[in-house]
Amino acid sequence: MSPRGKDEVAAIVVAAGSGVRLGREVPKAAIEIAGVPMVARAVQAMMAGGADRVVVAAPEAWVDRFAAFMAGYGDRVKVIAGGVMRQDSVRLALAQVGGAGIVLVHDAARALVPPFVVDRVIEAVRDGGRAVIPVMPQVDSLRRIRRNVTVSVDRSTFLRVQTPQGFETEVLRKAHATSGDKEYTDDATMCEAIDVAVTTVPGDGLAFKITEPMDLVLAEVIARGES
Ligand code: C5P
Repeated sequence: MSPRGKDEVAAIVVAAGSGVRLGREVPKAAIEIAGVPMVARAVQAMMAGGADRVVVAAPEAWVDRFAAFMAGYGDRVKVIAGGVMRQDSVRLALAQVGGAGIVLVHDAARALVPPFVVDRVIEAVRDGGRAVIPVMPQVDSLRRIRRNVTVSVDRSTFLRVQTPQGFETEVLRKAHATSGDKEYTDDATMCEAIDVAVTTVPGDGLAFKITEPMDLVLAEVIARGES
């Protein structure tokens, strides 16, 4: 029997973006990688990594089709309509996670995230992390734009942040309740704004965000190699 209450892990998969940068007619999360829609891959990774159930935020006009992708999971996966901004989609999904003590928030665009990263994030929350993020080192040199010139910065002081991010559900609820109109690119930043310490675990290259057309080509090659 799956756990209930504070031991339960709910995952939110945000998949309501349009994906204009990929230049396709369909929303990004519906695009297939080696025959499987991105959103279905993301949900599968959450389950394989230890989530007990998943709430998917889909584009409004695609709720039924996304639900059809997940039919095999029964009531362990619920699909709802997302919102205007990413954080609106998270907030709407958060209202559906009930009494789960731990919540993950994952971008459907990170469709190839390995389940061991999901498990790592869950364990770090169980170990006391209130807001946990998977991170990767910055490999490119970085420059900051200052007026019309660019200046070098020390790349070792920067980390690239991935998802799933993991939270005590109450912490994320409070962060969303107090966030106001300010736009946030991720949920850990929102928790930081209410003075919650953010802890890190190692991420993985396969959790890259599929954003540009070239990322889709790469994802296809990787997924075909694995199947
Ligand atoms: O646009 P960006 O790449 O930052 O989106 C990250 C994730 O948030 C994507 O998986 C996208 O589907 C999701 N999103 C959403 N609702 C929005 C905007 C983005 O669920 N309104």
